Amino acid sequence: MKNIKSIVWFRQDLRLHDNEALTDALAASDVVIPVYIFDERKFRGTTSRFGFPKIGVHRAKFIIESINNLRLSFQARGSDLIVRIGRPEQIIAELAREQRVQWVFCNRERTREEVDVQDALEQKLWTTGQELRFSRGKMLYHTADLPFPITHTPDIFSQFRKEVEKIVSIRPPLPTPQVQCCNIPADIDIGEIPTLETFGLEEPDRHERQLYEFRGGETHALERLEQFIWEKRAIAHYKQTKDELLGEDYSSKFSPWLAQGCLSPKLVYHEIKKYESENEFGESTSEMIIELMWRDFHRLMLKKHGDCIFQKGGIKNKIRMDLVEDGDILRIWVEGRTGIPFIDANMKELSATGFMSSRGRKNVASFLINDLKLSWQMGAEYFESMLLDYDPCSNYGNWNYIAGIGSDPRVFRNFNIIAQAKKYDPNGTYIQHWIPELAMLSKDVIHDPESMDSELAMSMGYHHGASYPRPMIDTNKWG
Ligand SMILES: Cc1cc2nc3c(=O)[nH]c(=O)nc-3n(C[C@H](O)[C@H](O)[C@H](O)COP(=O)(O)OP(=O)(O)OC[C@H]3O[C@@H](n4cnc5c(N)ncnc54)[C@H](O)[C@@H]3O)c2cc1C
Repeated sequence: MKNIKSIVWFRQDLRLHDNEALTDALAASDVVIPVYIFDERKFRGTTSRFGFPKIGVHRAKFIIESINNLRLSFQARGSDLIVRIGRPEQIIAELAREQRVQWVFCNRERTREEVDVQDALEQKLWTTGQELRFSRGKMLYHTADLPFPITHTPDIFSQFRKEVEKIVSIRPPLPTPQVQCCNIPADIDIGEIPTLETFGLEEPDRHERQLYEFRGGETHALERLEQFIWEKRAIAHYKQTKDELLGEDYSSKFSPWLAQGCLSPKLVYHEIKKYESENEFGESTSEMIIELMWRDFHRLMLKKHGDCIFQKGGIKNKIRMDLVEDGDILRIWVEGRTGIPFIDANMKELSATGFMSSRGRKNVASFLINDLKLSWQMGAEYFESMLLDYDPCSNYGNWNYIAGIGSDPRVFRNFNIIAQAKKYDPNGTYIQHWIPELAMLSKDVIHDPESMDSELAMSMGYHHGASYPRPMIDTNKWG
């Protein structure tokens, strides 16, 4: 090779294992310059339509940790990670020109904001005769292996699953590059990794009720994979525990690492298969693979239907006329003051930790849409800001689904919140954990304190309207 230089632009693929962009760049170049740009439009106070920061403090912290970890991995291989704050399309184009690179390699994104940035970069590179080369790596399935063109992806998940599960094999993850992988030129300033303070954010204290602490980066992702599958063997009872709400191991907690690309879904899949080959297994392992397929499905829906998953009418282009935009009601939901313990406990967990269980997400979303009659987009934008594991396709796809405007044959996903609370938190332990003001209530009344007459309430030391907010809707509707 004749001193061919390339840039690898890291985006939501913050890992060395199974990284197609990095692998392609190393194969095609003598010098590879790894770069990450903190996009100032997202990190510096930009707010969404409903006033939420684009990236809330929990996710900002997780991303900064992931970048620190990625830099250490490159340093351990005699290289480094170049870090900047600004607009990726400008900074990378300038660096490409200065360093006279042949190509910029990156993972192709498909969602509007990310596509706009990659298109703008491509335009700039073309003016200097340079090229953006796209790789893949977000999904479990390789789109080229699917038995249908993207535009023919079935709109119903069960149908999609039937057409791929038994037929399409999952490719093995690409190996992690070993020593001396990149040789970056000595004249490049590697740049400091920002802190939360750089973006005007305060380091969040670990909340006293937080039971699991997420730490960004590939190293922690691989540790969690090892722990969940091999050390604790929690995968063995995933089917029975996945709808629980409290604790470290009821579900995998892989999602924040998957969303930032610190963990490859293909690696998770092949570890599960290895576990299956060495152990007796029931339905739990395949249940986890089905969940990973949901992740692919939402991404394929976005590819097939385009930006409409972000718009009011969603995939079905069906605007729900019963939903309104009311900031005051939204605030009560956000702050966990609705007077419905199951909703409030989940919302408190989300704001304290940046995480909420799958069961919790379904309920708070259904409550916002079907009971408060708020625009689903308000809820989705709050989740976008707060979630550690925010992923545009999974977040907006799931909100579409629950609002009945996505890929779901049912008209509405309308949950009876109190019945759900009693089923999934039968002893009220989750409520007691996140709403200590209700700890004195017995499991028979904790999910619906309003159902107590004053005498019973007083006997437990509870005062309607004083100990905890009265419900903002009539809970009798749930029977
Ligand atoms: C309204 C709403 C919004 C959501 N927003 C997001 C989001 O922004 N990012 C996100 O990763 N997930 C989202 N989910 C899906 C799901 O709730 C989380 O993926 C899951 O709770 C993460 O916890 P876990 O990693 O322990 O999951 P596990 O139960 O251990 O599942 C393993 C993996 O499968 C994938 N998965 C599981 N369920 C789903 C699903 N319904 N859709 C897509 N992928 C799934 C995730 O990558 C997850 O890490 C949302 C669900 C709802 C109802």
